[in-house]
Amino acid sequence: MEEMVVGSPELVLAKIRELDDYLLVAHIHPDGDSIGSLLGLADLLEQLGKRWIIASAEEVPSSYRFLPGSEEIRVGTEGLSGSFRNVIALDVSEALRLGDLQPVLAEAQVVINIDHHQGNSFPEPKYVRTSACATGELIYELFLAAGLKPTVVGAKALYTAIMTDTGRFSHANTTQTALKIAAELVGLGADPHHQYVEVYERKDIRLLKLLAKVLDSLRLVCDGKVAYLVIDQETLAGFPLDMGDTENYISYAQMIDGVQIALLFREVEGGTTKVSWRSVPGVDVSRYARDFGGGGHVNAAGCEIAAKPQEAVQKVLEYLQSRIC
Ligand code: 5GP
Ligand code: MN
Repeated sequence: MEEMVVGSPELVLAKIRELDDYLLVAHIHPDGDSIGSLLGLADLLEQLGKRWIIASAEEVPSSYRFLPGSEEIRVGTEGLSGSFRNVIALDVSEALRLGDLQPVLAEAQVVINIDHHQGNSFPEPKYVRTSACATGELIYELFLAAGLKPTVVGAKALYTAIMTDTGRFSHANTTQTALKIAAELVGLGADPHHQYVEVYERKDIRLLKLLAKVLDSLRLVCDGKVAYLVIDQETLAGFPLDMGDTENYISYAQMIDGVQIALLFREVEGGTTKVSWRSVPGVDVSRYARDFGGGGHVNAAGCEIAAKPQEAVQKVLEYLQSRIC
């Protein structure tokens, strides 16, 4: 898949300088890149003397609450109306992925989009570069374009964005640029060990007990090319967890020798199933996820299927039969 670039840091920065009173938003099911990019951009806006607020469709996952400023992120749309003029949508490729925050787009005079996903459908002004390891990398480019540096708050936020979207500096998007920016951010106050511990350790023992149950569902199909895990509501019963807590479970399906596609099927309320897709270089799962109404990156994508997990498994495996099995 070829790199796609639309717009530039300079173009988006010029627009940001021109306007004011921003509402910053990002995709549903917040992750390290969406939260880190929101807080990183807020740091830049602060330095540019702009007024801003941040809103999220859902609570900030507990692993990211150590980030300074995360407590200022509003949850939901309550009280937002009338408190902003323009919207900046981060780490999101389509309006639908804003979830309950989608209506804010209609109220905005201008919507600016900064993103690194495949198939971005936002209108301009935007800066989209699919080769960026994280949206946090694009926010760092905005700092460079402005001739400014993140404060320690912004550095921690952007480092989190890059650490998480590169899978702790392990995925195929771990480029020299990603590592260079991460190193710069450490120079500005990001703390690799502390931030690793906050995001990936300090877990509740129940999360590990849940992992044991989930690993029991691990199956290898399609001549060992596809591995999948299932988390249904039955398994989740009694575990007070949010979506982010099971985000990394998919890595266990990915680590099996010979596996080209790893899948995690997680039942969400309302009888639908969230599917996470991961693949080895050369296999484009963003295309596959898009066929189910989702999207994402070439090697990490997602979609939601309106069915219980077992039925969603059947649908996806049937679909993969003619493509990879
Ligand atoms: P994850 O499996 O970690 O939730 O998502 C992997 C990647 O795919 C992320 O970049 C995420 O933003 C994207 N993604 C996940 N679910 C969806 C979806 O339903 N639609 C789209 N367009 N992208 C998704
Ligand atoms: Mn991202």
